[in-house]
Amino acid sequence: MREKTILHKQARTILTKASGFLEGYSHTLNPYVGCAYGCSYCYVRKMPIALFREESWGDYVDVKANAKSLLIKELRREKQKGPVTIFMSSSTDPYQPIEYKEELTRNLLEALTEDPPDFLFIQTRSPMVTRDLDLFQKLKDRLLVSITIETDEDRFESSFLHKHLPSEGDYELLKNFMRMVFKHKLRLLHFYQAHQISQQS
Ligand code: SF4
Repeated sequence: MREKTILHKQARTILTKASGFLEGYSHTLNPYVGCAYGCSYCYVRKMPIALFREESWGDYVDVKANAKSLLIKELRREKQKGPVTIFMSSSTDPYQPIEYKEELTRNLLEALTEDPPDFLFIQTRSPMVTRDLDLFQKLKDRLLVSITIETDEDRFESSFLHKHLPSEGDYELLKNFMRMVFKHKLRLLHFYQAHQISQQS
């Protein structure tokens, strides 16, 4: 895997009004800019946020260093205007590899448990999501987590997918996560396999 450019930046805002296919949500929440997973099929590649960047999609990640303080302020303000339903995340994966070190998504989730939105949808492809089960439990039925598992079929590895296929260990983690989800009666999960989607399209 190529070296990633990781930069820490100050964001101007963190909650963005949702639009387009996300109009069922009031806001999107992206802790990072860019995505180290760099999926070949990612729609963000064609968006201005990626097109006007020098580096190739997948080669950089900006960490929004002030995200938590912004979120606390903006969430309070937006909740006064009406229901706040958040899609996390529309143009990155909230569980970037750098999240292991930064814990930025976890910090945001802590803020969201202290001042819960009406609804939070988390979309990820990373088994790191299992780390935050304790916070998910606090959000209970305000939360839905969607986990993409691309495929465990090797023949797709070279043609359609690349880079970050889940390992056996990842699947074990996810299985354990599912067990805990059922044990704690959390409202989760939506698994899908990308190769099935591609075959249908
Ligand atoms: S994980 Fe999601 S945001 Fe990241 S490259 Fe893949 S599809 Fe795009």
